[in-house]
Amino acid sequence: MRDTELYRYLLGLKEPWSVSQVGLDVSGQRVDIWVEHPKGRLWPCPVCQKQEALYDHSEERVWRHLDSCQFQTFLHARPPRVKCSEHGVKQISLPWAEANSRFTLLFEKFAIDVLCRTSIQAAAMILRISWDEAWHLMDRAVKRGLACKVPREIKTIGVDEKSAGMGQNNYITVISDLERGTVEEVTEGRDSLSLEGYFRSLTPRQLVAVEAVSMDMARPYISAVEKTWENGREKIVFDRFHLMGHVGKAVDTVRRQEHLELKKSGASLLTGTRYIWLYARENLPMRYWDQFWRLRDSDLKTARAWAIKEGIRRLWSYRSATWAEKYWKWWYFWATHSRLEPIKQAAKTLKNHLYGIMNFFQHRITNAKAEGLNSRIETMWKTACGFRNKTRMRIAILFHFGGLNLYPVTH
Ligand SMILES: [Zn+2]
Repeated sequence: MRDTELYRYLLGLKEPWSVSQVGLDVSGQRVDIWVEHPKGRLWPCPVCQKQEALYDHSEERVWRHLDSCQFQTFLHARPPRVKCSEHGVKQISLPWAEANSRFTLLFEKFAIDVLCRTSIQAAAMILRISWDEAWHLMDRAVKRGLACKVPREIKTIGVDEKSAGMGQNNYITVISDLERGTVEEVTEGRDSLSLEGYFRSLTPRQLVAVEAVSMDMARPYISAVEKTWENGREKIVFDRFHLMGHVGKAVDTVRRQEHLELKKSGASLLTGTRYIWLYARENLPMRYWDQFWRLRDSDLKTARAWAIKEGIRRLWSYRSATWAEKYWKWWYFWATHSRLEPIKQAAKTLKNHLYGIMNFFQHRITNAKAEGLNSRIETMWKTACGFRNKTRMRIAILFHFGGLNLYPVTH
């Protein structure tokens, strides 16, 4: 078999394309392949498919293809152009690459597989492409995936804000499908528009299908839901893990204040106990047990605050909303009569948002899946050494967690 014939076969080229020349550069470790077509044939207009005679050729273009052994392999061709009576002069679509890509379809497919499984640096090294080329491939894959995504019904939506690196106002909003565990969209900021914008992108049918939105008690997100649906309030479920976070913070404030007071009169029992109080009872590591039980049975304010925090966790174990409501009233009384200011404040904040806490018993959703996604995003973020900007962050998140079909169509 001649090398031109071999490469025609390896590239999967079909009529009318054939390989005219193969150049091997051993010291440069590369193979260059030139592809051509016979004269005098008709080509389809890429818009209307009408067969037209050749008009001219574009400049020679080069596409990176899968390596031949360890040799980087490049495909060269001058794409034919036709002059369609309706659409003017157009370059025909080439069977080995998508329009505007610097890579052949087979290379893109392989690169997507590599990029899905490792960090962008590692992928760039394995594929022997630049960092920017790797981004270019991911960007194309995400755009392709979004373009062919069919609008589907999302019953439960999770909303999370996420810090996007340096700076106070550097946030993104991650919107996910809680049932499927996919990220649906990533928007800039954490204001009302960050979420409203996404809702506006939904079709009327998709909007009707949304049953509940799980989120933190953040005013902008609340108002985005209220603006989008008349009965928006009924759809809001405040995520229990976020709620526990607020109560946990109150416990920490109590601990800090008490620690300072105790230190004034000598050694504080609370030295080095910060993390102990943040654990849920059953998750406390064994090494803390002794110390913890001694502290818990003391008359420390922090121990009382902790007991109240653990108390609210029981709320979510109720099956009936009526019983949950009774339990809530009991807990609220306990918290507001605790004489612990931060705990009282936290309880009042919760009370102001009670509708969304009680909606849990209607929808029974939490951001747990979204939190899982968040921690995976975090890991990805670390291995990528951060992102240069929010646009790239969005691309990376949708690439890895969007559940999109990223591959180009090969024929
Ligand atoms: Zn045409």
